[in-house]
Amino acid sequence: MNNFGDRQMFDVDVNCAKCGTHISQLPFQPSGDRPVFCQECNRAFREKRRNDDRGERRMYNVNVNCAGCGTAITQLPFQPKDGSDIFCRDCYLKNKAA
Ligand SMILES: [Zn+2]
Ligand SMILES: [Zn+2]
Repeated sequence: MNNFGDRQMFDVDVNCAKCGTHISQLPFQPSGDRPVFCQECNRAFREKRRNDDRGERRMYNVNVNCAGCGTAITQLPFQPKDGSDIFCRDCYLKNKAA
């Protein structure tokens, strides 16, 4: 049993449920019915959740063309309404400046 500071670590033999990295130690005893994630993936999860909470990086996959220049748009930060004009970033900024 190794100790990292005061933290007790359990020797385990599992693989990260996300990336498959082998995990040999955990700060808790895995219950077996829950997926276990490596430190990297845990951190990524936390970052993602934080970003989701702030409403950042939330993109919708779309398949529309810019109403101004015709550029194909594949991602939007919002769900486009049917029939509404969608502008690419360039045209949007141009329209805003005009
Ligand atoms: Zn992982
Ligand atoms: Zn455009």
